[in-house]
This record gives sequence, structure tokens and C-alpha cells, in this order.
Amino acid sequence: MKTNVANFAPSKPNSMQNISSYDFKGKRALIRVDFNVPLDKETLAVTDDTRIRAAAPTIRYILEKGGSVVLMSHLGRPNEGGEARFSLKNIVEHTSEVLGVDVKFAGDCIGEKAFEMSAALQPGEVMMLENVRFYKHETTGTESFASQLAKHGDVYVNDAFGTAHRAHASTTIVAKFFPNDKMFGFLIEEEIKSVDKVLNSHEKPLTAIVGGAKVSSKITIIERLLDKVDNLIVGGGMAYTFAKANGGAVGNSLVEDDYLETARKIVKAASEKGVRLYIPVDTIVADKFDNKARTQEVDINDIPDGWMGLDVGSKTIAACTDIIRNSRLILWNGPMGVFEMESFQKGTVAVANAIVEATSAGAYSLIGGGDSVAAINKFNLADKVSYVSTGGGAMLEYLEGKELPGIKAVRE
Ligand code: AMP
Repeated sequence: MKTNVANFAPSKPNSMQNISSYDFKGKRALIRVDFNVPLDKETLAVTDDTRIRAAAPTIRYILEKGGSVVLMSHLGRPNEGGEARFSLKNIVEHTSEVLGVDVKFAGDCIGEKAFEMSAALQPGEVMMLENVRFYKHETTGTESFASQLAKHGDVYVNDAFGTAHRAHASTTIVAKFFPNDKMFGFLIEEEIKSVDKVLNSHEKPLTAIVGGAKVSSKITIIERLLDKVDNLIVGGGMAYTFAKANGGAVGNSLVEDDYLETARKIVKAASEKGVRLYIPVDTIVADKFDNKARTQEVDINDIPDGWMGLDVGSKTIAACTDIIRNSRLILWNGPMGVFEMESFQKGTVAVANAIVEATSAGAYSLIGGGDSVAAINKFNLADKVSYVSTGGGAMLEYLEGKELPGIKAVRE
């Protein structure tokens, strides 16, 4: 019998508000966005504005409802006191273009000038604060710093899912200064809804594909998922630890010897819980970790000495894609092989395509938490699945069933 994992249960909001019903007229909304975007090393121009575009619906909505907006974010990992290359000034112009609204820049995130600017903000206007990580109090979650940030707004909107797993001043602590005026933006609402949809709706079969490098980094998520899924497909580097645990010869493949017993326990737990656990049966092996290496396809339990498994083989691809195509709910976390190299991307491409097919046939698919997101983007298939998460580490922790501090602070 499947048990319920409490943390996956859809939460009941308490004092939090809802962005769709809140009256923003004449209010200054302090929005925590995740504008931690990549910049060109030379020109400091924005090279990928996905995160800015992702936050735009929340910003535009608040402006349309008669509010003004103060944007608050971090960028990179600057030293205390700040560094020009991590200044949010570098992205002000690009943000103005995306929003179609002139964005003013405060030059600091606290201090007299910044407070004067936010106090003078008129409905329909947008300003951006300087990188909150220019103060160490951001990452230490210092309350007095959070109270200063809170002065910029009448209402707090958290729309930065990517940092929701951090108890920082701007992502978590600041919420307590808005006891009755705090809410999620549309982006976080969507992230939460997508996980709830996959893990809490009763449609079947539910298939999770968990790949990536190591068992050790995915163990919690696998254990949680065993209580939820009908099918669990294991892929990527993890597969070789399972193969070795099963007595197989794995050559030079990535193996975590400390996790052989864990792998055996997972196999046993899956069988007890009635979960169909699919572990690769064949693999593409290479004689070195190189796109141009010599390769061959072999049984995963019979890898020759000196060779390493870098992708799943054709029998595995056929079985996995069949399971995926017949699923109604799909969660994908982690690639099937070293997809960054063309010679070893076949398994990951096949899984991505099967998810796309299942989605077009009516299944709901969530791609979340790490490199499967990079893979689906690399293959230009992101718009053909139901939802691609914007939060790598945050999504992983959410799927693990952890209560993210940034989410909790708004819900409390
Ligand atoms: P993760 O961040 O744990 O999802 O791991 C993603 C990384 O796992 C990617 O960079 C892949 O290249 C890597 N990976 C996938 N399969 C293998 C493999 N068979 N051997 C080594 N690394 C792998």
C-alpha cells in the first residue's frame, strides 16, 4: 500500500494572500525575483534572459492592477561590499526591454537614496535594487537587514523559486515584516502546482525517471518517490552502482562503493511497495571519458575492464521509452548519460522525445531539478512538455519533501 508523504500534501494557506485576488492599487510591491542571469564576461550583457522573462507576468500583472514594483535579487557570488561585474545595473536595460517599461536603478539595496526612490515610486513605475548579496547580511539572514529591505514595499511577493531553499534575508526573513501582505508570484505558484499535480493527483501510471551522476545525491528523492510512483526508472551514472550491487562487472564506470547496500535496499523497498523499478540492462561503454572515445554496446553487468558506461543501451532505451509513453504523469530528474557529449546523448534524447510524445497524447510532464532541464533546453523540447522547473536545487529539495524556508515564510 502506498503511504502519503505529508510534505507533498497541497498546503492550506493561512495569513498569506493570493496574487490574483490582492488589491495592488496604489501599493508598492517588493518582489523577490531570481535575476541571477548569466552575463557575457567581456561586455557584461545578459546572455540568457529566461529568468527575467519568467518573472515578467508577475511584474506586469501588478503594474496593470495599479501597483508599483521594487525588484530585489542577487546576482552571482560577490564579495562583501560588491563588485561591478555583479552589479544589477548590468541588467537594468535588458529588464526594461523585456518589460517594455523604464526600470529605474537604486544604486544600493538599502540606504537613504534607495529609500527615497522607492518612497517616491508612482503606480506603473518599476525600480531595481542593487544586488542584495553586496551585504553579507543577505546570506546570513540577518533580521535587521531584512527589516531595512522591507521598507521598500507595502506588500511582499516572492517569485524567486530558485532561491526558495535558502533562508536568506530577501528570500525568507523579510516575509515576517508583511504578516498580512505576503504572497507568491505566478512563477512560484506554477512550480508548486506542477509538483502537486504530479505527486498528488490520482491519475496513473505515474513514472519518475531519476538519472544524473550519483546515487548519493539522489537517494532522498528516490526514497520519497518510492511511496508515490508506479514506475521508477533509474538512469545515468547511478545505474552502475545498482549493477555492481547486483554482482555485475562495471569496469571503470562511475560507482559509489559506499552505496552498494543502499542500492540493494532500494531494490528491496521497490519490490515491497509494488513499484516497478527499472534499472538499465545494457549500456554504451567508452574506453575513455571523451566524445571521440572508442565505444561499444554491452550488457550493463558485463562491462569489460578498462571501459566505462557513459550512456544507456538500445534495449534499455526501448524499455524505458515504452514505459514513459504509457504513463499519464511523468517526473524527470537527471539525464540518462553524459548528454553533454554528442556520442553519449542518445538515451537522454530518447527519454526527452518519449516524454514529448506522452505529453502530446495527454500526459502531464514535469522536468525538474538540475541537468534534465539543461538537457530538454539543449534539445529544444522545453515547449513540448507540460512544465520545466526554473529552480534546480530548490526543486530537488521540494521533491525530496523538504519544506523550503522561502515557501514556509510566506505560508506561515
Ligand atoms: P546530476 O547533477 O546528479 O543530475 O548529474 C548530472 C550529470 O551526470 C551530468 O553532467 C551527466 O554528464 C552526468 N552523468 C550522467 N551519466 C553519467 C555516467 N554514466 N557517467 C558519468 N557521469 C554521468
